[in-house]
Amino acid sequence: MTPAPVKLESKLPNVGTTIFAVMSTMAAEHNAINLSQGYPDFPISSQLIDLVEHYMSNGHNQYAPMAGEPVLLRQIANKLNDCLGYNFDAKTEITVVAGATEGLFATITALVQKGDEVIIFDPAYDSYAPAVQLSGGTSVHLELKLPNFTIDWEQLEAAVSSRTKLIIINNPNNPAGSILTAEDLQRLSDLVVRHDLLLISDEVYEHMVYHPQGHQSILKFPELRARGVAIFSFGKTFHATGWKVGYCVAPENLTRELQKIHQFLTYSVNTPVQMALADYLKEPVHYQSLSTFFQKKRDLFLRLMKHSRFEPLPCNGTYFQLMKYHAISELADTEMAIWMTKEHGVASIPTSVFYNKGTDQKILRFCFAKSSETLTQAAEKLCKI
Ligand code: PMP
Ligand code: GLN
Repeated sequence: MTPAPVKLESKLPNVGTTIFAVMSTMAAEHNAINLSQGYPDFPISSQLIDLVEHYMSNGHNQYAPMAGEPVLLRQIANKLNDCLGYNFDAKTEITVVAGATEGLFATITALVQKGDEVIIFDPAYDSYAPAVQLSGGTSVHLELKLPNFTIDWEQLEAAVSSRTKLIIINNPNNPAGSILTAEDLQRLSDLVVRHDLLLISDEVYEHMVYHPQGHQSILKFPELRARGVAIFSFGKTFHATGWKVGYCVAPENLTRELQKIHQFLTYSVNTPVQMALADYLKEPVHYQSLSTFFQKKRDLFLRLMKHSRFEPLPCNGTYFQLMKYHAISELADTEMAIWMTKEHGVASIPTSVFYNKGTDQKILRFCFAKSSETLTQAAEKLCKI
């Protein structure tokens, strides 16, 4: 007789499988073009692959130091200086993590205590709230205002309570494709200082900004730098999402705390890839060229979709384009995404899943980090709907 399943109380009873896994699986099952989960379908740099092979073949296969390979930490510090004009201490202010996801989890776990409130702006990436919950905190969700997904400053001010510990921002924003301005960050800086709050800034799309102001990192603002953790992803920057390597930048006291968690989550990140990235980063063109590269893809996708019945929203950053479909259907966005995958062969992500309240604005997210052929084939199908 098979034993009965063991009884277990879920620590995340309201969490299911992430939408990215659900839609990518559905796309594969129905042989649909996958514009859902955010990852490129074109090859990564062969130079980068050669570098990893080189370091693997030359004995760099054991544990890296817990905080990261010193050569990579130094190159990240150089990159930060190149992008922001500020010198970070490679030894005490940077941590290499197993993707931004690990960086976010380690940081949230390090900063949030039982009873703390954490302000999250919806639409929000789906890993923030569960990490807050597991730490015994409560997330307080505020909705960004359409069409440009701007912060409602009065609502934010009103949401800050004596329990508020932390604000999480995502700039550029997935799925919105929106960016924060220098003025927004200055305002945020005034607010976090006034209320003595901490800040996490998820900046994994830092090199995909299509607005003349460029990317505004929290690390450019002295007060935000002193009370914030900025989180980045080499997976996004170098088209290698499967490598799962990112880094956190924070002042020494915050770095110390997040490393206490990081050391027991993963201890360290795979060595040959760190060594390869350190070499690859020596040529700034590898990241400086990205915004132009992706802007061309965004523009191609928009051009191809011009004669469809979908209505694009502004996209100033990330590799996601939002589209309203109210001219086509009244279906809920999750049903629409499923129907389109099964019946029309294109998978997308419904945006209601990024809202705590499940707010359905009849908007789908399409990933345009794809080859011209993929985008052309997908748009052909989408234009027939
Ligand atoms: N934050 C956001 C906003 C994301 O879209 C993603 C997905 N790549 C991550 C964090 C996680 O990044 P990584 O793949 O490096 O874990
Ligand atoms: N960040 C990616 C997206 O938004 C997915 C990452 C993941 O699958 N966890 O599509």
